[in-house]
Amino acid sequence: MNALDAMRDAALAGDVARAVGTASLEARLRGLAAHGAVGAGTGGGVARQALCAHELAARRWLVQPFARRPGYRVGIDAAANVFVRRDGQESMLSPAMTGSHIDTQPLGGWLDGAFGVAAGLEVFDALDRLGLRTRRPIDVAMWTNEEGSRFAPGLMGSVAFTAPQRLEAFLGVRDGDGLRFEAARDAAVDDLRAEALREGWRWMDTPLARPVHGYIEAHIEQGPVLEAEGLQVGCVSAIQGVRWFRITVPGRSAHAGTTPLAARDDAQAKAVRTAHALLEHAARCGDDRLRLTIGRWECSPGSINTIAERVVFTVDVRHPEAAALDAVRALIDAALPAGGQLEVLQDKPTVRFDAALAGLAREACAALQLSHREMLSGAFHDAMPLAGFCPSAMLFAPSRGGVSHHPDEDTPIDDLAACTRALAWCLARLAGPLVSSTPPEASKD
Ligand SMILES: [Zn+2]
Repeated sequence: MNALDAMRDAALAGDVARAVGTASLEARLRGLAAHGAVGAGTGGGVARQALCAHELAARRWLVQPFARRPGYRVGIDAAANVFVRRDGQESMLSPAMTGSHIDTQPLGGWLDGAFGVAAGLEVFDALDRLGLRTRRPIDVAMWTNEEGSRFAPGLMGSVAFTAPQRLEAFLGVRDGDGLRFEAARDAAVDDLRAEALREGWRWMDTPLARPVHGYIEAHIEQGPVLEAEGLQVGCVSAIQGVRWFRITVPGRSAHAGTTPLAARDDAQAKAVRTAHALLEHAARCGDDRLRLTIGRWECSPGSINTIAERVVFTVDVRHPEAAALDAVRALIDAALPAGGQLEVLQDKPTVRFDAALAGLAREACAALQLSHREMLSGAFHDAMPLAGFCPSAMLFAPSRGGVSHHPDEDTPIDDLAACTRALAWCLARLAGPLVSSTPPEASKD
């Protein structure tokens, strides 16, 4: 591409960004939140766990306005991920992709995941308002079971999409009522197909692991950084690594009143010393990127006047650098009392996003004069498995008070619109160059 073309594409991407409607974005988000709303309005939160009746209805509701519009088609894959495609000029090219998830925690808020899907669909409307067609198709994905609260683990849809060999194991997972994921998946596929037949939707086949040109996901930050710094958009460069440890400390049960301190083998005292060493390290290391959480603590027999015979506690530690995680591991090894056991429950290395795509996100913010910063994601997202599959990146919108997975989850609509504009700019560039949507036949002569 020469410099003139690049300038023209950037200018058109700016037009697409400015065509994003704040009111229509809010209407779509409020309408989506009504599916599974607890109580009146959005104040009571949203209960829309993976593939429940509310989620299936929400999928149909989101897809419906596009499915019969010329230039759009719909598909659902073997992991029940739903895709809405806006055709490109060159339909054989791999799509630029965006999206997120619309499942929630048992009681979640109205924006986690929902925002990324609504934002992608809003970009479609912006392109339609301008009558622009991109060179590549653009897909908006609704990934299945990101949250992992109904079927464990989370990220099932995006993991299966990028690594189809993992699907088999997911199919046998059961929810709390004993229902297999496979049955829920089949019901979701049948539900959307039936609606497509009834409504005459344009359908597309969507095999797992089909090529994707690039993936960029908008999401709420779920942390306090952007709000505290008064910024509109976060350009996410990586998802920090995480390790989960379970530490078991044995002791010997005895009477609290009769056993002298020197004669005790007190599991509680030993476990507290180990935990203290970790918390002291976190408090004193001076590295504000370290996250260290002792989230679960079980003591047995758990009696007020009995010396503990066993303590089990967990450590969740996160940091973008493997060396910092290694240091915590070494500290646990050193602080573990005799007979103590250490299990590694999870070890996910830091996922770094594509430098060019992350750069495009920063370019978008600069071009649109949105206040922004580069940042890490503290939580997992569908973009994590995607990052190992195709060039990927993320955009964050601020979260009020850093709250998420809670009915109080909120973001000012202007901030959501700003992040959507950055997404629109990136997608236009990723799928470009843009042309007016004159039918190809007519433009030949
Ligand atoms: Zn999410």
